[in-house]
Order: sequence, then structure tokens, then C-alpha cells
Amino acid sequence: MKAMVLNKIVSLKENRTPLELVELQEPVPQAGEILVKVSACGVCHTELDEIEGRTPPPRLPIVLGHQVVGIVQDNGPGSKRFGIGDRVGIAWIYSACGKCSFCLDGSENLCKEFRATGQDAHGGYAEYMTVSEDFAYEIPDVFSDLEAAPLLCAGAIGYRSLRLTHMKDGQNLGLTGFGASAHLVLKMMRHKYPKSNVFVFARSERERDFSKELGAVWSGETEAESPEKLDCIIDTTPVWKPVVEALKNLKSGGRLVINAIRKEAVDKEYLLNIDYPLHLWMEKEIKSVANVARKDVREFLDLAAEIPIKPEVQKYGLRDANKALLELKERKIRGAKVLKIG
Ligand SMILES: [Zn+2]
Ligand SMILES: [Zn+2]
Repeated sequence: MKAMVLNKIVSLKENRTPLELVELQEPVPQAGEILVKVSACGVCHTELDEIEGRTPPPRLPIVLGHQVVGIVQDNGPGSKRFGIGDRVGIAWIYSACGKCSFCLDGSENLCKEFRATGQDAHGGYAEYMTVSEDFAYEIPDVFSDLEAAPLLCAGAIGYRSLRLTHMKDGQNLGLTGFGASAHLVLKMMRHKYPKSNVFVFARSERERDFSKELGAVWSGETEAESPEKLDCIIDTTPVWKPVVEALKNLKSGGRLVINAIRKEAVDKEYLLNIDYPLHLWMEKEIKSVANVARKDVREFLDLAAEIPIKPEVQKYGLRDANKALLELKERKIRGAKVLKIG
């Protein structure tokens, strides 16, 4: 089968073709697994972190890609949840131990043996992949393969971050950063919490305008003061300044949720601007989001079908994965980037 593999950690500034198109042996589904013929795989910012070594895959070469939609082609021994020909999705969570306290209470995203798709195991930048049948999802019929793929990461993690804010209908939500995940959060939040107002902080005027088109009541620069205090804020930026600046807008007892796997170090010293009485005192909280649990993916897919949320998609061939990644790096973004495979 054809696959785009990462052979070594590189800087995209120096190497504009980090992935290589190769011929790999088609994987064979083991006990409890399914073989999936991939039809679409979303391109995510996390792939840039993997390629550039901020979240390096433990073993190389590796096939990246964790927003996978495809058709079940074969069942491994004992697998019976899906029939041949069923459409399934695969997300960032590839497997977990199933036995620890986190796994047993549905927080398998925190399991010590958490393994990620396209990082700890081969992912969807390929014609085929295998996964445990317990870690695959039915895809609601309203979505095409290309539309469903980007929902599996940005959408599901956005859903988890919204859940972790503990917000209630009528409360004010702030979003700092307004990329793929944040714009999905805004859409689901307007549906789930119709009485709440959303305030958006973003660097670019285009993003600020876009957020207002989607229903934000106010938008301003990263360091702006919001016209009202906010009960909760979700940060989806890769840096620190937005976190520090957002904290001053948080209500007493409010919570800021950081939705990022890693933060870049470029502006780490900005944290020295934290003024305890202004930014943290009065029981303000900061919480991170780690990975996704299966429940997040399932609940989000249902919610997205109900609203419905249909992402705008930009399509690339498998062999153009490097081009898609570079454009993502250079912020040439028109909708979610998806590889159309097979
Ligand atoms: Zn992702
Ligand atoms: Zn576990």
C-alpha cells in the first residue's frame, strides 16, 4: 500500500518535504482489530509538532494522521462489532490499557498507557490502517467522508475543552485564538448554551470578523479587555501571552482551559507578567486538556450531526500531504485540510 511516512524529525523551515511517499506492506488486523481502507484523513497542527519534534513519535518511521475515515475491509480474529463495508472513524486515541482507574471511569485519555494514532501507531496518511474495534466510531450519515475527518480531532477536543469549562447556559464564554477548534467550539456552544454570549480574542482582524459572523457578541485583540467579565475562557493558541492576557478578563472563581498539547517556548518570559491579584487571585483556575476520551468523540459526532456542523474542507491527494502541512505551517488556511485517499 502507499503511505506517506515520517523518517526523521526535521524543521519545516529547512526541509519542505518531511514526509516520503513509500510502498508499505498492508497491515494485518490482529485479534480484536479491524482493517480499515482509508478514504479521508484530516491534516492537523499536531502533525507539525510531531514532524518538528515538539511531540516526537517514539519510533520512526511512522505514518502520521489521526482524523481518519474509511471502510472496514477485514476483521481480525474475534472482532465482530463492525461488518465488512461499514464506515468508521478513528481519532487521536488509538488505545489505552482498559484496566487502570482512569480507563475504568471513562477518562482513558489520562491512562499511562495511552497510545496516540499516527504517533505511537501508524495512522491515516496511508491507504490502509488497523485499529482495535473498540477505538473506532460509527460516522453519522449526514457527513461525507471528507466532512467527517476534521471533526474527529479539532471538533472532539473542542468538545472536551468546552466540557471542562463546566459552563452553564447563560454564562459568558471567552475564546482566545480563533482557529479550527475554536470556531467549532463557537458553533457547538451556540447550540448547547443558547443563552450564553461568546467573546473572542484573536490577533488577526479576519479571524475577529469571522467570529462575529458566526455569532460572537464581541471580538478584540489578544490583550484587549472584554466589555464583561467571563465565567470561562478556552485558549487554543500555541503561546503564552494569550493565557496571561485572558486571565485578567476572568470572573472570580472562573476557569481558563488551555487546549494545546504543547506550548511553544518563544514567549515563555511573558509569564513573568502574571500579577497574582489581577490574574489569579479570587480562586481563578487554569486547567489543561489532554487528548480525548472515546466518549468525547462519540458525543461530539452526535452533536455535530444534530446541529449540524459541516466543516469547510480543502482537499489534497495523499502525495500532496507535504504541501498541505506546509500551508498549515504558513497559515494558508481555507477550511480544514483533508487528504482524499483511495
Ligand atoms: Zn489533531
Ligand atoms: Zn488505563
